[in-house]
Amino acid sequence: MMAEKTFSIHVNDRACKRCGICIAFCPKKVFSSENGKPVVTNLEACIKCKLCELRCPDYAIVVGGEENE
Ligand code: SF4
Ligand code: SF4
Repeated sequence: MMAEKTFSIHVNDRACKRCGICIAFCPKKVFSSENGKPVVTNLEACIKCKLCELRCPDYAIVVGGEENE
């Protein structure tokens, strides 16, 4: 765990329709699928490419947080 990182990935459960697109597009396998719902299980691997956020048809994912302190 890197304590100084405030970076996070937020999945809006109400907006998510469990299509699995984000899980499929993530090049780093940051998500695990829980009956189609993306669960962040490998945040350290995330390269912040935002593909998950960009590809989600329902704008249910927000890749965010401050990278600089
Ligand atoms: S930003 Fe990129 S690497 Fe990070 S979870 Fe989304 S798709 Fe995966
Ligand atoms: S792409 Fe969006 S709607 Fe589809 S599973 Fe991921 S968060 Fe949910």
